[in-house]
Amino acid sequence: MIDGHMQQQGFNLISILQHAANAHGDTEVITNSVEGGRHSISYKAMYRRTAQLANALQELGMKQGDRIGTMAWNTWRHLECWYAIGGSGAVCHTLNPRLFADQIDFIVNHAEDRFLFVDISFVPVIAAVIDRLPTLECVVVMTDAEHMPDTSTLTVPVHCYEDLIANRASEFQWPDIDENGASSLCYTSGTTGNPKGVMYSHRSNVIHSLATCGSDLFNLTARDTCLMIVPMFHANSWGLAFSAPMIGSKLVLPGPHMDGASIHSLITEEQCTTSAAVPTVWTGLLDYMDAEGKSIPSLKETVIGGSAVPRSMIEKFDKTYGVDVIHAWGMTEMSPLGTMNRPLAFMSSLTDAERMDIRCKQGRAPYGVELKIVDDDGNRLPHDGDAFGRLLVRGHWVIERYYKQEESALDADGWFDTGDVANIDQYGFMQITDRSKDIIKSGGEWISSVDIENTAMGHPELQIAACIGVKHAKWEERPLLLAVKKPGCNPEKQNVLDHIAAEFAKWQVPDDVVFIDDMPLTATGKIDKKPLRAEFENYYLQ
Ligand code: AMP
Repeated sequence: MIDGHMQQQGFNLISILQHAANAHGDTEVITNSVEGGRHSISYKAMYRRTAQLANALQELGMKQGDRIGTMAWNTWRHLECWYAIGGSGAVCHTLNPRLFADQIDFIVNHAEDRFLFVDISFVPVIAAVIDRLPTLECVVVMTDAEHMPDTSTLTVPVHCYEDLIANRASEFQWPDIDENGASSLCYTSGTTGNPKGVMYSHRSNVIHSLATCGSDLFNLTARDTCLMIVPMFHANSWGLAFSAPMIGSKLVLPGPHMDGASIHSLITEEQCTTSAAVPTVWTGLLDYMDAEGKSIPSLKETVIGGSAVPRSMIEKFDKTYGVDVIHAWGMTEMSPLGTMNRPLAFMSSLTDAERMDIRCKQGRAPYGVELKIVDDDGNRLPHDGDAFGRLLVRGHWVIERYYKQEESALDADGWFDTGDVANIDQYGFMQITDRSKDIIKSGGEWISSVDIENTAMGHPELQIAACIGVKHAKWEERPLLLAVKKPGCNPEKQNVLDHIAAEFAKWQVPDDVVFIDDMPLTATGKIDKKPLRAEFENYYLQ
């Protein structure tokens, strides 16, 4: 075979911000800032500051391959860190501030972070563990001199971000780096065992962004204003920190302000056209708008994923607020996008109800991701919308091995087991039926906890619900529903069960409902079933 005769330019993340500065230089990045107040900066100015930061990092002694941590909200400074660190050939390691102190120190030590960039709000979080972080050489507080907090509890040298980059050259000689070199590191918040590191490369990130900005995925254009709510510290901000500048969309960042009222004012004042976040954030916005009689006319659509989107949420956005919900599924190990739910041509001839059935699924895989479902022996199952089994994936932006692990995370044929259980229909629409460890086995039959939860959350008086399998003397396991009531509501147990029974076979309906005050959530905002199982595992045996 003869070689192709085309240019061989390696992918490098900094080229994305350079393009934004050159082609969309005056387009703004708006932040609802940590210090308070709305901040605005152009891509052109942000690129110059990114070069200033790279110069500062070089002087601090950062070398290629070093891991540099960030514990920060979505802000322009956090974006500058991503690009300056990755563009210099080091690795930007995002830390989730909602993790427990033990997990934070495990992660920083495992990654051997040399420097940490932190928002003012997280100085106490780091101060609490700093004596257990031997690799840490300095902390940079991401603010200006006026807002510097008391840092006397930090026992390493501390810099103020704005002072650190001030008076530096606004140009930087970005090094040539191998496109397969590491650019960013994100740990999964596994509900069992220690967190595991997913190390992205320049190549995987750029290809993921090139693919996912397209119109059947995030559908970003230079005319769009994208409200990026999904945190940069969780699952790579769904790639939007790269794809929005790549396309030249105006970016709007919520900082720490993710309550319904703040999100509403950002959408209306900045005229956001598109957005992305997990369902819990949208519940906050919908409750706020319902209570206050507000609307969001500029928002055309929003991508929702991270956990299953209840049908009631898609319908509410659609019918009451005129917003198209695009259901998406993915995971940290997939950069994170795996599937997105955009309609196919044949769907225009379906009824609204039939279309809604499809829109509730997690969606189809784009070019770059392959999906298959298998039974317990690893045999492929048919794509008929009924057969369900373990969901396996492979593709250009899917993990090969976890950071610092010798063994591959893939099977012999190169497939990664997602830990999800799913079916796939004849058109390729995938539907998650459960996490493999959450599925409920009752008398040899399987019950999908996700399906029950989705229906329960459509009950008008419930805020949030979780369904778990608990021990049962006769059936081995039976479903139990744990639910939080909406404020001011007092639903009857039987009424909740009847609501579920309207859509499920009798044996699938939970035997009981327990109302709880708060739903335990993981650091990434998903229902944490571990404490629920521990508390209720013997509920039906008592
Ligand atoms: P994370 O890596 O924290 O984003 O978690 C990934 C996991 O979240 C997936 O393996 C799924 O179990 C779950 N998940 C993500 N998106 C969805 C979705 N749209 N519906 C159901 N589960 C989802």
